[in-house]
Amino acid sequence: MAWPGHRWLFHVTELITPNRCWVCLAGEAEGGPIRHGLCFSCWKEVASDPHHRCRRCAATIGAFTEGDQACPTCRAKDLHLDSTVRLGPYEGLLRDVILMMKTPMGEGLAEQMGHLLAEVKGEELRLKSLHLVTCVPMYWYRRWQRGHNQADRLARCLSQSLHLPYVPHLLRRRYGAAQEVQPSASARWQNVRQAFSLRAGANLKGQRILVVDDVMTTGATLSAIAQCLRRAGAEEVHAAILARA
Ligand SMILES: [Zn+2]
Ligand SMILES: [Zn+2]
Repeated sequence: MAWPGHRWLFHVTELITPNRCWVCLAGEAEGGPIRHGLCFSCWKEVASDPHHRCRRCAATIGAFTEGDQACPTCRAKDLHLDSTVRLGPYEGLLRDVILMMKTPMGEGLAEQMGHLLAEVKGEELRLKSLHLVTCVPMYWYRRWQRGHNQADRLARCLSQSLHLPYVPHLLRRRYGAAQEVQPSASARWQNVRQAFSLRAGANLKGQRILVVDDVMTTGATLSAIAQCLRRAGAEEVHAAILARA
């Protein structure tokens, strides 16, 4: 489903018959009312998490693991995150949506998903009394290649829906090689730790910050960002992601 031509098809379809599901292209007559760009059946599949999650790192955990207990990932490594919310695991339709967001035409879908994330997880996020929202930055060359940073679009729309300021505090210093070509997990953790810096003049003393990204895989990226924000004085760093791999 997530091939670039699909988005072009959507744009053509939208011109002829507006108000179709961005994912399955169903109209309101077949798929029910369109909400955040999705028909009812796609919305339900994307927005309902079938599993329990670790409160800290959002990894899928067993039904009988207490939410406050550290999951195996959190026991092995301190991710420097206070909590992580997710829509669901990185599979099925949610995975298709995320892959579509990464295509050059995926900007609008990423925006819709930001509003959807706020609708589904807004209550939980409001309890954290956050001060601001920021996002995982993308190196300029990759952003230029793709035409947009899906995490930036997500974060902007999530912050709008939550009525919180959006501040792109972070810079990505250099091009991070794709995860699969990294020599080892520890090399990736080492590389990514040096990849982020704060924009000049950022004062984060006492701030409770929400960092937004589309997918969390090992947690190395979000952990490096959380460390960077804490070094600048952030009091709490929470994460909001669409999916956890
Ligand atoms: Zn649909
Ligand atoms: Zn965990």
